[in-house]
Amino acid sequence: SVAVKQLYNLIKREKPPPLFNPRPIELRSDEIVRGVVGLIGNTPLIRITSLSDALGVEILGKAEFLNPGGSVKDRVALRMIDDAERQGLIRPNSESRIFEGTVGSTGISIATVARARGYATTIIIPDDVAEEKAKALIALGSQVERVRPASIVDKKQFVNVAKLRASEYGRSDLVTGAGPSTVPQTVASQSDATTHVHPKEHSDSKGFFADQFENTSNYDAHFDGTGPELWRQTNGHIDAFVSGAGTGGTIAGVGQFLKTMDENVKVVLADPEGSGLFNKVKYGVMFDPKESEGTKRRHQVDTVVEGIGINRLTKNMELALPIIDDAFRVSDVEAVAMSRYLVMKDGLFVGSSSACNLFACIKLVKKLGLHNGETIVTILCDSGNRHYSKVRFFIVFFLH
Ligand code: PMP
Repeated sequence: SVAVKQLYNLIKREKPPPLFNPRPIELRSDEIVRGVVGLIGNTPLIRITSLSDALGVEILGKAEFLNPGGSVKDRVALRMIDDAERQGLIRPNSESRIFEGTVGSTGISIATVARARGYATTIIIPDDVAEEKAKALIALGSQVERVRPASIVDKKQFVNVAKLRASEYGRSDLVTGAGPSTVPQTVASQSDATTHVHPKEHSDSKGFFADQFENTSNYDAHFDGTGPELWRQTNGHIDAFVSGAGTGGTIAGVGQFLKTMDENVKVVLADPEGSGLFNKVKYGVMFDPKESEGTKRRHQVDTVVEGIGINRLTKNMELALPIIDDAFRVSDVEAVAMSRYLVMKDGLFVGSSSACNLFACIKLVKKLGLHNGETIVTILCDSGNRHYSKVRFFIVFFLH
């Protein structure tokens, strides 16, 4: 808009700073963080008072919803972008554009970090994800493309479309629209994955497919960040780590780090209904064909728990399989009941995957008969605000 352009002109420097500033300006105190990305990580660990007191076990949740982009995925977005810059795949403040296929949280994190680094983003999401996430992406200036929910073998599946869009970006033979721009774009498009807008070729117009599922920068973010933070925050007293898996990055990276520090730490998967990972961990196969639940999850529009559960083995998840000691199934109803319980007892409004993690903590405690102050750590991936439209029916239901 004219007003935004005027603002840009007002603060534009005569001579732009070098792309890679060799001498960053010193901060005046170590209590000041360097931009928005300085807020990522080092999240507090919350003792879940109601559950810990009731069970006689310390249940500790890592407050990842306090990251600036609102979820654990900020760490992953930052690491993927950092690594891509180091490898020369993208260049800050250039015409590079980052593409990602996501059910929402990773897109919001990528859009946040990308903006801070001077990149444009195109995020592909299935059109059944909670409406709040699509709105947040558009508000962050991301180009959003919604596709119908589909299985990974379908080329119109959101991850496949993101990969395709990245590979097409900058190809002059595919020009149908305007050139790339560093001015924020806010295009929300409904797509059948065949229509597209492609920028003209430009020396710097590189498309980068972040690929959270297969990109092991995801694992590294947790092995180098979340894991060591948990270890430090508990003074190394951890009996079990419980986590759901979407890409598998969290459970693989944190789990591997904790096992490296102490091989007795139990790594436990919390898996929602319809995901194939539980069966893979328990029985070595993704799903029982008789149950046919392996294909259900991505087609089920009324699935409540978002972000975890998957029916294929990603590279990040492959790194987790050898270290997972046990797995628990958590139903949608159990996850929502836990989410309401936490609001009522602790004043904590977490998202459905966090609630799923906490329900699995209880199942673990009951199975092992723990009650002597053992420490179980888990991840509070994001806030309930981000899921409200999907859970409001249950909220009304549980309140009556
Ligand atoms: N919770 C939410 C809300 C998520 O979006 C995701 C990632 N899709 C996860 C948990 C799972 O994390 P990971 O991808 O590291 O397995």
